[in-house]
Amino acid sequence: MHDLTVIGGGVIGLAVARHFQVAVGWQCLVVEREASCGLGISSRNSEVLHAGFYYPPNSLKARLCVEGREQLVAYLQANDLPLNMCGKYVVAETDATSELERLRRQGELNGVGNLEIIEAGWLQRRYPELAPLPALHSPGTGVLSADALVHFLAGEFQAAGGDLAVKTSFVGMTNTDSHYELALEDSSGERITVSSERVVNAAGLSALEIAQVAGFDYAERGFELRYCQGSYFKVTGARGRFQQLIYPLPTANSLGIHIKLDLQEEVSLGPDARYLPELVEDYSVDPGLEAEFRRQVRPYWPAIDDYQLVADWSGLRPHIFVDGELRHDFHVLEEGPAGCPGWVNLLGIDSPGLTAALAFGPYIAQLWD
Ligand SMILES: Cc1cc2nc3c(=O)[nH]c(=O)nc-3n(C[C@H](O)[C@H](O)[C@H](O)COP(=O)(O)OP(=O)(O)OC[C@H]3O[C@@H](n4cnc5c(N)ncnc54)[C@H](O)[C@@H]3O)c2cc1C
Repeated sequence: MHDLTVIGGGVIGLAVARHFQVAVGWQCLVVEREASCGLGISSRNSEVLHAGFYYPPNSLKARLCVEGREQLVAYLQANDLPLNMCGKYVVAETDATSELERLRRQGELNGVGNLEIIEAGWLQRRYPELAPLPALHSPGTGVLSADALVHFLAGEFQAAGGDLAVKTSFVGMTNTDSHYELALEDSSGERITVSSERVVNAAGLSALEIAQVAGFDYAERGFELRYCQGSYFKVTGARGRFQQLIYPLPTANSLGIHIKLDLQEEVSLGPDARYLPELVEDYSVDPGLEAEFRRQVRPYWPAIDDYQLVADWSGLRPHIFVDGELRHDFHVLEEGPAGCPGWVNLLGIDSPGLTAALAFGPYIAQLWD
């Protein structure tokens, strides 16, 4: 019998399992469908350590982003994992400076310090290829390696005695009075049953489906999942051109197509936001999107037309709609009221999930206190 079973070995599932195995001392099991951890959303994102000023005060995203960011910076530094605290600028047209001020105030309310509005012209003096626009400077933003983080978490979890079963899918649940019986299936189709006192469903894009398979009727609660694809284009010949991330103002369902840097200072543009017609994990990038990418980036980086863009890769955001309306916040749902105490479904864990990852375990522990 395990104290806790976590379904899904992405960054969230591993961070939760590590917390309970290492910090709390429980015996935990992680089941991961793929041959290796972190191949889902955790390997297809901007790898930005967000400061926490985008999210409404008192939202779970604001809380877990700010708490998780602090924990993650300390964790990455203590374990010598890659992190470039490069900072970022959010730029706005001059007549939208009030939006920058709104983000700054929101950041302050969320506990994000050091946010500063920079006058039009300053950023262009630093980067002559940019338009002379005012910007919000966030020195507390950085870039990390999601892959290095995932593998370090998995290693630490196992070194502390945690059990990790890869190529193993959760396929069903029976709730007894004292614990959960979980049906698992390996890649050859063989089934086993394991027992667990508590369960966290951290299955990313499949989390809503798994909740339904486990018997939680989210359709009745008005929940619907849609995959919101975010594509990226590589900017050839621009390596080292920028040392900071440059973002436009956020849109209704994304942070906007930004200048993304990796740890080698390679430059990409993305992600955009478009809903897939079906719940199919389609990661193909349509090269025909290039003109739209240029159109959105040109207002703040007019020199983009001097560069070639190459369609690169994409990621999928698990967007949750309730009664037809997009719900932006994370859903951390303890199912005690549905007769399943100790079962938590994590739904809609899109950005800033990577930044917030280490805060999920302590938050769930509080729910169970
Ligand atoms: C385009 C994009 C850009 C983003 N940029 C950022 C960013 O810059 N900064 C940031 O903080 N966040 C960002 N995010 C969000 C962040 O990437 C996610 O919040 C985070 O990676 C979610 O991790 P996860 O563990 O929930 O999901 P996943 O990594 O998808 O893990 C879920 C795991 O569950 C497994 N699984 C599924 N079904 C089963 C089953 N039946 N049995 C067993 N296992 C199963 C899957 O194989 C998978 O490994 C971005 C997301 C996207 C899509």
